[in-house]
Amino acid sequence: MKKKINAQFIIIGIFAVAATLLMSVVVCYGIFKKQIIDDLRGYSQIILESDMDILESIEKIAPENVRITLIDADGNVIYENEADNSSMDNHGNRPEVIAARKDGEGSNVRVSSTLSRNTFYYAVLLEDGNVLRLAKDAYSIYVIFYSAFPVLIIIAVIIIIVCAVLAHYLTMRLVEPIEKLAENLDETKGSEVYKELVPIFEAIKENHQKTISNAKMRQEFTANVSHELKTPLTAISGYAELIENGMATEDDIVRFSSEIRKNADRLLTLINDTIKLSELDDMASNDVLEEMDLNQLVKGCRDTLTVNADKHGIHIYFSGNSCMVMANRSMMEEILYNLCDNAIRYNNEGGSVYVSVYEEPGRKILSVKDTGIGIPKEHQERIFERFYRVDKSRSKSTGGTGLGLAIVKHMVARQNAKLELESETGKGTEIRVVFSA
Ligand code: ADP
Repeated sequence: MKKKINAQFIIIGIFAVAATLLMSVVVCYGIFKKQIIDDLRGYSQIILESDMDILESIEKIAPENVRITLIDADGNVIYENEADNSSMDNHGNRPEVIAARKDGEGSNVRVSSTLSRNTFYYAVLLEDGNVLRLAKDAYSIYVIFYSAFPVLIIIAVIIIIVCAVLAHYLTMRLVEPIEKLAENLDETKGSEVYKELVPIFEAIKENHQKTISNAKMRQEFTANVSHELKTPLTAISGYAELIENGMATEDDIVRFSSEIRKNADRLLTLINDTIKLSELDDMASNDVLEEMDLNQLVKGCRDTLTVNADKHGIHIYFSGNSCMVMANRSMMEEILYNLCDNAIRYNNEGGSVYVSVYEEPGRKILSVKDTGIGIPKEHQERIFERFYRVDKSRSKSTGGTGLGLAIVKHMVARQNAKLELESETGKGTEIRVVFSA
């Protein structure tokens, strides 16, 4: 990038220098031309203002190298100080003569015999109808340009060198904050960077931070999964070894086999939840959302949920009216099962769970409320994180993986809904899935 900016600066410099030098030659030549015509006008005034007869005054005053011609009203040359007037053709149609006749004075520049010289003409109309014309040869613009060329080249080279140095310095200053940012995305403050680039840098920074935190999360997740797998596998291996060594009695074998099965179930649930989460992570969010009735969905799951509640000695109640939302059926079932499962597992002996579907202005709600142990305030923010548990041993002993609410959170977001949590320690918890109506 630096090289490109540098090169562009230099190219602009070269064009600017060339254009400036060319323009200065043209302007200088304009001044030069005006000066010669002014000189000729001055000579003509001196000639005309003298008291002598005009021809006498021309002969006396005529400056060196100035050709003076007197032309009558018909264009015939009456007098010419440097050539024989008899051999001269009619001068009536010369541009400066025509202009003098029309406006009182006129001037013109013509290429003389060689390209290198120009002839400058100035003509003035006299009172008697004759025209007095003065002419002088001088260098043409080409010669001036040509003679000035070496000096122009030296000037151009000097300016271009200065340009190159400046371009290098400017490019460095221009690129420096960007390079600094690239070197250390986290430390660069907005003020060091160009105002216009701040939003772009902020976006890059945000993206960078997201990538880093994503990578960190994945790493933590993998570490957590491995750790969670280790415990049931160690248990399975231990029990199996005891049986293998013949150290277990008949009764032990039954007990150990049951432990092995429980741990294997744990492994399966954990692996299933992990797969679900990684699918949710990887899948592009093009889930099929269909119009469905939340109340019908709850009715469909009612029996299974009741069996699960009964097993744990918990009363489960259902209430609600028809509530149409755009959602994904299998995700909604999974959410409902996960929320009810938690409401049952973190409940008190003989407690209750209330599942309700209702509508509020602008909101359609599926609520799962329990009379259980509740969640302390300081944990409420974090329970939706992967593997975050308030009471690890209770979670594990009831078959929890620590991933249920993370899956719920993911799925709710996928359906453009949001989660609300209300909980008080010792009183119970309510989790609401809220769709905007
Ligand atoms: P787990 O498999 O451990 O239940 P979850 O992700 O479903 O994992 O929940 C995370 C944690 O949130 C649980 O370990 C528990 O401490 C807390 N929790 C979830 N639901 C409830 C609830 N209804 N009542 C009390 N605590 C809850």
